[in-house]
Amino acid sequence: MNIKIIDVTVHVIKSKLDTPFAFSQGWVNKRSATIVQVKASGGIVGWGEAFCQGLEPPEISAAVIENALKPILLEESPLNIEVLWHKMYNATRDYGRKGSVISGISAVDIALWDIAGKYFDQPIYQLLGGAFRTKIKPYATGFYRLKGKGEANRLAEEALCHFENGFDHMKVKLGFGIEDDLNCMETIRNALKDKNITLMIDINHAYGRSEALQLGKSLEEYKLRWYEEPVVPEDIKGYSELRSKLDIPIAGGENEHTLFGFKSLFVNNAVDIAQPDIGSCGGITGAKHIINLAHSFGVEVNPHVWGSAIAQAASIQVIASIPVTHFSVFAREPILEYDQSSHPFRRELLENPFELQNGMVNVPKGKGLGIEINLNTIKKYKTN
Ligand code: MG
Repeated sequence: MNIKIIDVTVHVIKSKLDTPFAFSQGWVNKRSATIVQVKASGGIVGWGEAFCQGLEPPEISAAVIENALKPILLEESPLNIEVLWHKMYNATRDYGRKGSVISGISAVDIALWDIAGKYFDQPIYQLLGGAFRTKIKPYATGFYRLKGKGEANRLAEEALCHFENGFDHMKVKLGFGIEDDLNCMETIRNALKDKNITLMIDINHAYGRSEALQLGKSLEEYKLRWYEEPVVPEDIKGYSELRSKLDIPIAGGENEHTLFGFKSLFVNNAVDIAQPDIGSCGGITGAKHIINLAHSFGVEVNPHVWGSAIAQAASIQVIASIPVTHFSVFAREPILEYDQSSHPFRRELLENPFELQNGMVNVPKGKGLGIEINLNTIKKYKTN
């Protein structure tokens, strides 16, 4: 196999939002993505994306890819995915290990898997060992705030809108003060009362342990599928404490990275559900490491997805390949985070955008990520 990497191009794309929205950590004024295009000899091109948090400048992981990773990759075989993952990780260890450096590695890794799929004429899930499922139930992530507090009625209307769009699982953003949070949840629950809807909550680590516990206790009767990021990612003991005191599964991991980071969550019994983001946990290779490790600790894996269409495609390939953690005839399957907040270029980025069919997302069967990138969209929003 004499295929080799001949070029690595980074596209920083951004679009301002007409209506900014808030989660508990701040106001999101624009959507951004750090997209990487890896060209291999023979004309194969792979696409990857670094997860860019709502408040994170996309230029950070772009600089990592351009300056630290590209020199490692050129002339190497793109099929040596695991080898290159370790080369990139080892080369950046002393200043990396977390955050945007690992997001840069993740973007490159996704692109390498896309190349491998195209080279072997197979979808990525096939290279990962096959699909446990060919369609995935999506859940609506939404309920962001347009003003701040006091939006319970609007959020209840939003819930009905998600239901009409085919969702029966929804994740509500909380963390705007406990009184406001509880008022929102009660109003949403009343709006959905005659419907069979599963709710999750995500507070994006807005509170300390005592408030996080107080909120959780007040919502135990809601039978939530999970309570996401109750405290800051560094407070692993806080996670463990909440997990032992609450009758709600605890989820976290979107701000954790690589198997080394997840190991500390697992050995401390911090989470019931691990949520690596494929665009920042170390890519598909990183996710593979984490999934195996989680499996050994009896922890479920349900990837976090908030990026653009490339990140969605990578997540779908990975979710297809995740074994259920607790096998039974009616085992709980992983679900796909399907962000419903405003994103000007996510759909436009693909020639063949994802659609819900009977409330499910089909896993693409095409080679690699199974998507076609619309280059005009990249040109339109590119800033670098
Ligand atoms: Mg979250």
